Amino acid sequence: MYHELGLPGRPPCQSEPGYLRYIVSAADFESQIHWLRNIGWRGMSVTEALSSPHENGVVVTFDDGCETDMLSAAPILNAVRFGATFYITVGFLGTRGYLSHSQLRELSDQGFDIGCHSMTHSYLTDSPDDRLHQEIAGAKTELEQITGRRVEHFSCPGGRWGPRIVEVARRAGYRSVATSRSVANPPHADPFSLGRLAVMRGCSLKGFQRLCGGHDLWKLQVGDLTRSSARRLFGNSAYDRIRSLLLSRSAKNR
Ligand SMILES: [Zn+2]
Repeated sequence: MYHELGLPGRPPCQSEPGYLRYIVSAADFESQIHWLRNIGWRGMSVTEALSSPHENGVVVTFDDGCETDMLSAAPILNAVRFGATFYITVGFLGTRGYLSHSQLRELSDQGFDIGCHSMTHSYLTDSPDDRLHQEIAGAKTELEQITGRRVEHFSCPGGRWGPRIVEVARRAGYRSVATSRSVANPPHADPFSLGRLAVMRGCSLKGFQRLCGGHDLWKLQVGDLTRSSARRLFGNSAYDRIRSLLLSRSAKNR
């Protein structure tokens, strides 16, 4: 699971420390993709993985719909003929740093899988039913109108996943829902609760290799558990304020 890629001299889409941690430099991304290619693995989209789950490969996904999907990720992936799924937040399209409608169409025309990452990127576990429908089903329709292709995969903003979200996604015609839970997906995994591993800023090639090999997942799962317990305890908005405070303090102390 990737987000924005970092390019020299290009300001990021957002500036909070919690966001910056997820920006992987384009150079690091390129080395990671080349390593996969060199060991004979293939990068693929969620659609490809669901249709051939036994193939030797790794699903590559991007959340949010940053312009670097088109400027940087797509050329690196195209050079080695890897597929990927780009989950787009409809409300971000055309705003500073994010894809325009025509760039999104171009990404889709290049053969990449376009998924949906909601309408406004709000936490869906907090949304009332009518809003949830708009965020999941309404956003799907808009993306289909822009790309002229079916949009069948959804990823949850901020990793907030729950059975209500799955129910609305199923009814809207999605074939999968991706979470941000650090679990491996066996061939018969529930497609409406797919695990994903975040590649974070500064992740070394060795660290990336361990992620791809599924090593030390338990360490990441301890982190997942701590975060989800804290969110339950404080609620999403208080959790975000505390997290942002802690991250900016640690950035100052670095
Ligand atoms: Zn997101």
